[in-house]
Formats: sequence, structure tokens, C-alpha cells
Amino acid sequence: MQALVKTQKGIGYLELQEKPEPKPGVGEVLIEVKACGICGTDVHVKHDQFPYWPPVILGHEFAGEVVELGPEAEGIEVGARVVGEPHTQHCGHCYLCRTGNVQICAMKRSPGWGIDGAFAKYLVMPTKLLHRMPNGMSFDEAAVVEPTANCVTDIVERARLQAGDFVVVLGPGPIGLLSALTAKAAGARHVAIVGTPADEAVRLSKARELGLDTVLNLAETDPVEAVMDLTNGLGADMVIECSGAPPAIASTVKYVRKLGKICAIGLTGGTAVQFPWDDAMKKVCELIFNLSTQYTSWDRTIALIASGQLPAGEVISHREPLANWEKVFEDVEELRALKALLIP
Ligand SMILES: [Zn+2]
Ligand SMILES: [Zn+2]
Repeated sequence: MQALVKTQKGIGYLELQEKPEPKPGVGEVLIEVKACGICGTDVHVKHDQFPYWPPVILGHEFAGEVVELGPEAEGIEVGARVVGEPHTQHCGHCYLCRTGNVQICAMKRSPGWGIDGAFAKYLVMPTKLLHRMPNGMSFDEAAVVEPTANCVTDIVERARLQAGDFVVVLGPGPIGLLSALTAKAAGARHVAIVGTPADEAVRLSKARELGLDTVLNLAETDPVEAVMDLTNGLGADMVIECSGAPPAIASTVKYVRKLGKICAIGLTGGTAVQFPWDDAMKKVCELIFNLSTQYTSWDRTIALIASGQLPAGEVISHREPLANWEKVFEDVEELRALKALLIP
């Protein structure tokens, strides 16, 4: 089968290769991949900015159909339409696993960087990490479940957004837009999203098209002033930082109200951040760090998407055959794409 492989350590070294079809082991199934989204992680692996174990097939935001059961694979049948939590190889024994937090187990090796992933016709997954897609959900929509489950984990479950909250989202990339939609679905009264001139053409115009309450280009409007005007000088109940840009991270403290929350989602790629510690202290705000998805967020996310309450499929901008990967990665990196799907 054709697969998009990171062949060795270093910048680049991404190529389409012919690989043998995998075989499902004990408790695993073989899944025919119907769609797989390009994640920031895939781009980071391309540029050698995220841990990975080459040679490895990239891609973890997949949806597909079960086509073969391995020995002792239970609770699922051939023909089932599924998505999967990328928490493969968690140990099951450590403190984190035993407390239900397999997503941050030190032994975890996700498909797409730790083990072979879903930019290929087939991948294998343990049955215990699968979730069924409801009837009526398309494979394209299902491929956006994983990134959306990140937003639901971070914003709803960990930062506990409340109905009526005023929310600011910094960074209008796919995760920023999904965060804004998640905040809306969770009952935010007003969502303001902030971007730079580079975001104007694709990302901010999408934010407007999605009907977000206030869309701010920081080169044209002082976004902190705008948020203060909209909140009678109080500030935002929650600031969701999705850009990973150090100046934006520092600015979260300016937007947030006293006793408000900062929900951190974007990674900097390793840059140290100057943070106004004392200002945050004076605001008595909470800063919530996040990584990966909790089990509980998956079914919640699937239900929110299936009901139409969280129209995550709206952020899909590209749907291309796997063979066109190079051009699509370029569009993602040049900010010409939102969520891009590759179809093996
Ligand atoms: Zn992802
Ligand atoms: Zn563990």
C-alpha cells in the first residue's frame, strides 16, 4: 500500500512509499482509512520539532471502516465505522493509566509518530481505543473528531467553560476555529477571535463566515481595547490561547478578567515565553495547561458533531488524494488551508 512515511530523523525526509499492509495483532483490528486530517503535529514531525520514531507512517486524525479482526478482538465487528483515540501502547499500570489518564502515559506511542499511522490505506488499532461513528456522520466529519475532542477536553472538561461566558480565542487556525465553535456549543454568550494580517485571507474570513461574534485583525483594531469595550471594562471570562506565539501568550493576561481563566492549547515549538507573572497574580486568574484528549471527551464530541451543535466539518478546506500530499502540506504551512484531509 502507498503510505506517507517520515523516513529518518531530520528536517524533511517525508515521502510516499510502498509499504506492506499491516496485520492486526491480539485485541486489534485492521481499519481501512477513509479520511485522515493533517495535524500541526504532522507538520512538526516533518520539521523535526516533535518526538517521533522513524521510519514511521504519519497521520492520526483518521476515520475508517473495520475490515478484519485480530485474535481476541471483541466488541466490534467487520463493517463498523470508527474513529480511534491515539493513545496506543499506554502501559495500563502506571499512576496515570490507573487514574484513567492514559493519554499522558509516558509509554504512549501514537499512530503517526510513535507507530505507523493513517496516511495509508490501512492501519491497525486496539479495539479498546475505538469509538463508533453514528449513522449519518460522514467519514470527513469523523476525521475532525480527534482535533475537536482536544478542544472539548481542554475547554469544556478541564477549563469548565460556563454558559454565558465571554470568550476570547487567540489564533484562528483550525484548532482556534474549532475552539470558538466548541465555546459556542458550550454556551458562550460571545466569542471574539483574534488573528494577524497573515490570517486575514483564509482564517479570519472563515471566522466571519462561521458567524463568530467578533473577528479581530490585530493590525487594524486594538483587540484588548475591543474586548474591554465589549465587556464594560471587565475583561473576558475565558481566554483560549491557540496560537502558540509567545507575544500572544503574554497578552492573555491583558484580556482576562480578574478571577477569569486562561486555557492554554497552542504549543510554541520549544520557545521560552516571557510571561507577565505579577499581572497574572494581580488578576488572580487561573492558567490551565492541556495536552491530548480524555476518554470522556470522545463520545461527547461525537454527539456534539452529530447533533449539529458543533459544526466541526465547517473547518475542512481541503480534501485531496494522498498522492497530492506535498501540495496540501504546503498549503497548510503557508496558511492557505484550514483542516486538510488526505484520502488514501
Ligand atoms: Zn491532531
Ligand atoms: Zn501508563
